[in-house]
Amino acid sequence: MPDGTLKTGLPPAFTFSQSSLQDYTDCARRFQLRYMGQLHWPAVETEPVLENEHRRQEGQVFHRLVQQHLIGLPAERLTPLANTANLSHWWNNYLQTNFKMEGAKKITELTLSAPIGGNRLMAKYDLVATLPGGRALIYDWKTYQKRPRDEWMAARLQTRVYRAMLVVAGAYLNGGKPYEAEGIEMIYWFANTPSDPARFPYDTTHFKSDWQTLTGLIQQISNHQHFPLTDDDKKCAYCPYRSYCNRGIQAGSAEGMEETLFNGIDSTFEQIAEIEY
Ligand code: SF4
Repeated sequence: MPDGTLKTGLPPAFTFSQSSLQDYTDCARRFQLRYMGQLHWPAVETEPVLENEHRRQEGQVFHRLVQQHLIGLPAERLTPLANTANLSHWWNNYLQTNFKMEGAKKITELTLSAPIGGNRLMAKYDLVATLPGGRALIYDWKTYQKRPRDEWMAARLQTRVYRAMLVVAGAYLNGGKPYEAEGIEMIYWFANTPSDPARFPYDTTHFKSDWQTLTGLIQQISNHQHFPLTDDDKKCAYCPYRSYCNRGIQAGSAEGMEETLFNGIDSTFEQIAEIEY
């Protein structure tokens, strides 16, 4: 698709999210195609197609099961719905994990948003567990086949957006008092490796730096006229926009996918979740 035919302006009242910012950070053209051109899933992301589509659906069902359990449905009623090998494995791992949330108020599928620069940023959480004393735990369930490194998870826009947004917009969960960053921790729980979550505490220094970075990133996107293709063509093998960019027809294999390439896949899954909530 020639550059000149692509839209360059954001849709009216566009709200940024961690997945759109991650898309931009991975590849400015992917952001343009997905959010400005509003082109969705024109090509498969990974081979084998059916297996990966099935896995994506299992991830969605797993999120729904956990959400229903957390709002009070008994496990016995939900267990029959974990009716594939992956779902059953993840669900058993979830039921056997002590998340240490005694005394916490659990808020599932919470959406927070706040103005940032001249725009808005939102975060959609799997679970926020609030505790006395101005503490809050942000949980996010991941059904990755392989557990990524902590360094990779720490650098994700999700880790930065979710913690910062709770500081900026979470006061109503804390009796009207804004959370101090020091009271917040983000925990990625991996359904395949349940005893090895990735934990990210927070502090004011990191919050200030995150908010500044996010503000700068959003300003940069808003003022951009040119959205170049990524130089790292490894990312293209797992991107649904390959045909628009003349970056090949064949989808990459899930087996050969490196950690650094989860982003395109993950953001599509999270984009679906953001639309669904
Ligand atoms: S195919 Fe490559 S260049 Fe095109 S949007 Fe996807 S990642 Fe970017």
